[in-house]
Amino acid sequence: MPELPEVETVCRTLRPHLVGRRIDQVEVRERRLRRPVVAGFEDRLVGRTIRDVRRRAKYVLLDVGDGQDWVVHLGMSGRLCVGEPPPELTHVHVVVVLEGGQVVYYRDPRRFGLMFMTSAEEGLGELGVEPLDSAFSAELLWRLRKRHRRVTVKSLLMDSRKIVGVGNIYASEALFQAGVRPGRRFGRVTRAELERIAAAVPAVLRRAIESGGSSLSDYRDGEGREGGFQRELWVYDRAGEPCRACGSSIRAQVVGGRGSFYCPGCQR
Ligand SMILES: [Zn+2]
Repeated sequence: MPELPEVETVCRTLRPHLVGRRIDQVEVRERRLRRPVVAGFEDRLVGRTIRDVRRRAKYVLLDVGDGQDWVVHLGMSGRLCVGEPPPELTHVHVVVVLEGGQVVYYRDPRRFGLMFMTSAEEGLGELGVEPLDSAFSAELLWRLRKRHRRVTVKSLLMDSRKIVGVGNIYASEALFQAGVRPGRRFGRVTRAELERIAAAVPAVLRRAIESGGSSLSDYRDGEGREGGFQRELWVYDRAGEPCRACGSSIRAQVVGGRGSFYCPGCQR
């Protein structure tokens, strides 16, 4: 599933192709996404010019002027790419033609994604702190720890009402870097460990953005390329393989209903 680094990479790779271009045609081939694409969506988009492409949490926000954003959420398997969709490509649900003939298409085999228009980020739900902002800190985690002592540390990092964009892959990797096991109760995590987690989360996300994200299944960037971070994973999806730091066998454990991975040698 695309997480913060993948969505950020999509925004960065789309931006040079889209900004300044007018939207000439919008074709919705399949409305049944996680929520249906509303009737009239096309009319609200045609004739507008894309002014910016930015990310909030795991949403791609395309600023089309007058305070309006064209919002795309990639769900589990969504892809927002420039270029003509190859004719053999199935599950292409939305095709947008820009002035000059540039095409952008949305593909999503599992249809857990979202597409709608909004103003002032309305309809994005309750969103927590961006982990790459200065507001994400050991101090913030310490405050959260006072109110959420019983949840596991990994579940807390993945709770988008508290911290956005950190999913299963990056929570697992950041906790490895911080030396903390994913199933630990948040109330049992020490201040020193919180300092390490506060440093590890943005470090892992930034490194993943530099690598263009992780392509474990459907994910591609805005230009259709795979990411490279899946080759740099220390624990995620490596159950039974030796830890590259200490040689211990990586373990799998279900935490908060999600498959989690940790090194019994490196993480306490
Ligand atoms: Zn290890």
